Amino acid sequence: MLQRQSVFKDETKLDINYVPSRLPHRETELRLLLEFFSFVLQSPRKMAQRVVITGNVGAGKTVLSQRFGVEVIHDASKRGVNLRYVHINCRECRGSLFLILLHLILVFHPNFPRRGYSAEELLDILLKVLDEEDTHVIATLDEFDSLVENEGSDAVYKLTRAQETRQNKPQRLSLVCIFRNLKTVEQLDPSTQSTLQSNIVNLETYSKQQLTDILSDRTSLAFKPSTVPENTVSLVAELASSEDGNARFGIELLWRAGKYADAEDSAVVTLECVRKAVSSIIPGMRRADLASLSFHEKLLLLGTARLLKEGHKASVSLVEAEQAYEIACEEFAVKPNSHTQLWKYLHTLSRSGIVNTEVSTTGLRGRSTLIHLPRIPARELEKELNMLLEKG
Ligand code: ADP
Ligand code: MG
Repeated sequence: MLQRQSVFKDETKLDINYVPSRLPHRETELRLLLEFFSFVLQSPRKMAQRVVITGNVGAGKTVLSQRFGVEVIHDASKRGVNLRYVHINCRECRGSLFLILLHLILVFHPNFPRRGYSAEELLDILLKVLDEEDTHVIATLDEFDSLVENEGSDAVYKLTRAQETRQNKPQRLSLVCIFRNLKTVEQLDPSTQSTLQSNIVNLETYSKQQLTDILSDRTSLAFKPSTVPENTVSLVAELASSEDGNARFGIELLWRAGKYADAEDSAVVTLECVRKAVSSIIPGMRRADLASLSFHEKLLLLGTARLLKEGHKASVSLVEAEQAYEIACEEFAVKPNSHTQLWKYLHTLSRSGIVNTEVSTTGLRGRSTLIHLPRIPARELEKELNMLLEKG
């Protein structure tokens, strides 16, 4: 058989973690961020900064801050300033201040013990480590909502006040806090709010035209010349625009459409490829959202999906889901986690809208928790999860 041609030049340019060197329609925001930190670059020991970034899903919050990280480090090294940029996803740290701080310390001391300290102690240790290294850190805390939801004002207060309690010591820690929802800030107590709210970069939702520019840019990086017609990009932009201007959705769609073109041995990514790609994306839920779940959250969801795919029942109880989870753990050769942990996973899954939960009081044995899958066909969910779990 002939070696098939691909429409792609470099698929990695469509990866969710790829940080392009140009961010169309976020230039002003990027400059603003750099501006906020210009004093820190001038006197990193005297100044620390706190900035809040907000915007919808797919509005470019993560990529903007990562681009900012690259540029600010570049500026710092030109000036001979010792500065580090560290990007941490709070949700991946399960919204735990302890894990966030641990992650920061591990950047400098990879062998630091994983247990034995409280969050307060870790904060002190971190600042000491930064003193020893004589460095200033800009820590971006992505999906900060998760820390607020999990630990409330207290943790945020500790984090933002840490340096103020160290008198006559150099400033070491600046923060960029990324919120999906500015309402989360309102849940904080007033004094904590005031430590955060001074510098806000709000990312407006992209228009269709802006999405077209972003997607065209990405197309020329990822696809071979003349493989993606203008009307294809335009349709993808249209669809992303109707998904609340979610650029991530657009980029994923572009990638999937390219895959369909390759599968059909087509030299161009046609409108029909885009349509197929749309219908293959699980409605109401993006692959990226599933991918970002922890391994055990995926296993619990897999167990649930398997029970629901037969279609006889609208919901499963947590007890049933737990049994199916244990079977899934066995298949993937991992030890099942405790019931208490499962509660937490279920909480995460329901907070992200993947499942709905309901407490039933009519069961034979009193109250039990029921799990529904409101948006995603169980069969497709199972397929997707199997794929993700096998990847690692
Ligand atoms: P958020 O963190 O706000 O949910 P992301 O930063 O993850 O959104 O952006 C979603 C996707 O869209 C990523 O792949 C990102 O690279 C891309 N993207 C968003 N805005 C831009 C832009 N202005 N230019 C280029 N790519 C962008
Ligand atoms: Mg993000």
